[in-house]
Amino acid sequence: MKIPNYVLAIENTGKKGGQILYNTINGSKVLITPKQEMLIKQKRNSEKLKGLWEKGYIVRDDYDEKEYVYKGLSNISKTYNLTVLPTYECNMKCEYCFESHVAKESMEKKHIGCLIDRIIQKIEYDKKTKIRIAFTGGEPLIRFNFIKLFFEQFQKKVLGKYNIDYEITVITNGSLLNRRIINFLKQNNCVGIQVTLDGVKEKHDRLRRLKNGDNSYELIIDNINAFMTEIPFVIRSNYKVGEEKELYSFIDELAEKINDRKLIKLKLRSIMDTLENRQYTKQSKNIDNLGKVIEYAFKKGIEVLQGSICDMCRIYSSSNEYIVPNGYIYRCLMLVGYEQFAIGNIFEKVRNGQEEFFNNLNIWKSCLDCPIVSLCAGGCRYEAYVKTGDITKKLCKYKEIKELTTKFIKAKYIL
Ligand code: SF4
Ligand code: SF4
Repeated sequence: MKIPNYVLAIENTGKKGGQILYNTINGSKVLITPKQEMLIKQKRNSEKLKGLWEKGYIVRDDYDEKEYVYKGLSNISKTYNLTVLPTYECNMKCEYCFESHVAKESMEKKHIGCLIDRIIQKIEYDKKTKIRIAFTGGEPLIRFNFIKLFFEQFQKKVLGKYNIDYEITVITNGSLLNRRIINFLKQNNCVGIQVTLDGVKEKHDRLRRLKNGDNSYELIIDNINAFMTEIPFVIRSNYKVGEEKELYSFIDELAEKINDRKLIKLKLRSIMDTLENRQYTKQSKNIDNLGKVIEYAFKKGIEVLQGSICDMCRIYSSSNEYIVPNGYIYRCLMLVGYEQFAIGNIFEKVRNGQEEFFNNLNIWKSCLDCPIVSLCAGGCRYEAYVKTGDITKKLCKYKEIKELTTKFIKAKYIL
């Protein structure tokens, strides 16, 4: 009998003792008692372990973990995750905008048919049964009319003809939300809005000023408070590695200004190096500090979302696509605008062989023995490209990811 290597056993330092078993493949977790822990260690079978066997937290010694992980990661999702960037234009001018290298174009009404065709292609040829559409940009809400027109056609040509589930999310700077937009989003099954606040008011207003020179912090907080009971909000906060300590006062400020902190979730993301700005940042030095910040947020009643850059790299999967204003299709938001990495173009209906290249870029195959392969999938391809110039290079961050996951689980579940 053994705990499979993709299940992390994390000591429960709370008063109940025992361990938290966390399945990295499906995200489930269970608290086991000191007695159960001892039975497993001594490989003694007992009625007390029945539930753990049934749910796969313990397996036979000869169980093939690699096979299970392989199936879990290569399982092609029935969901098409489409992110549409209707525009690169924005009403803000942020200091670190990663899209500074792209021309400020927007999609036009005449392009909606091509987007719909791509969706239909995914339903008919890839047999997708669910579509998740995220709108981002630029600032997607400056093209709200485009989004409305898109949905008119989506309702008619997709929902009216195919039996599929769908949901949408909007990733916005949060400054343009209003009653009309919220009503529309609710009618169209919007399950979440992500807005960005980059630290306390003074810092955010310095980094994320509106183009007309106005501050944006209070405006965004007011919008969250006005609409948080209608659609769930995620607050993304970007910070520089080494500046984690500033996040404490940010969390204090959020706890004070947000009407109901149970209705928001916080996504903390360190600012990545980009091709234009290579700092060769070492993320590893921030793990301890970040762990403490996460713990502090949970204590303050604010849930922090797990994960680092992306929840997990899916660049190799045909289920994930980003379609940008000039029609190019990418597999990763960070590669947007670097046309050598586009896998095709919906306006020109071209294929360029890059799709096959990305389909085969499943670096994780060489990591099947790694306990956290399903949280990492061989590391970020974009980061590999920025740091080494080779997108196929494996950047292993085992220590960092394992440590951070452990700290996160402890902050969230210690009993
Ligand atoms: S390459 Fe990096 S940024 Fe792109 S999808 Fe993968 S983890 Fe995310
Ligand atoms: S790159 Fe490293 S941490 Fe990531 S899955 Fe592979 S072995 Fe594990």
